[in-house]
Amino acid sequence: MSPKQPKLPWYKDGVKFQCQGSGKCCISRGEYGFVYVTAEDRRRMAKEFGVPTRSFTSKYCKKTDEGYHLIEEPGRSECLFLENNQCSVYKARPTQCRTWPFWPEFLNAKKWRSEVKNFCPGVGKGKLYDPVEIETIMRSQEASDNSKK
Ligand code: SF4
Repeated sequence: MSPKQPKLPWYKDGVKFQCQGSGKCCISRGEYGFVYVTAEDRRRMAKEFGVPTRSFTSKYCKKTDEGYHLIEEPGRSECLFLENNQCSVYKARPTQCRTWPFWPEFLNAKKWRSEVKNFCPGVGKGKLYDPVEIETIMRSQEASDNSKK
């Protein structure tokens, strides 16, 4: 009898994704409210602004038990860096924005269907990400989740 083959993930044939610039993932929604920023994210963004990391952090970030996140402006549900549906800091954007939509919590078929597939217009378009690329991105988000404190 041959050994049991491991079950292949639902994304075994890859997933197409290309940002369509909808800005939907830049708007606070339920449990996905904050844009978290790691120390590396804050350094990169501060450099983009040409200011010391400490100044960037005190002006644009807030710390909670979960770690640093971008501040939210009163009465505004979208990210403070979203301007005319475009990210104004795109080159330096935080890791969680770079790794969308391949977040660890979404690499579950049910979650993917309910939280991402019908939500994000970029899914199913453009570049085909193979499983290795998807898992590499997912791990980079996992590392970011672990280092945001
Ligand atoms: S930093 Fe840019 S990509 Fe990330 S949520 Fe804000 S506007 Fe969107």
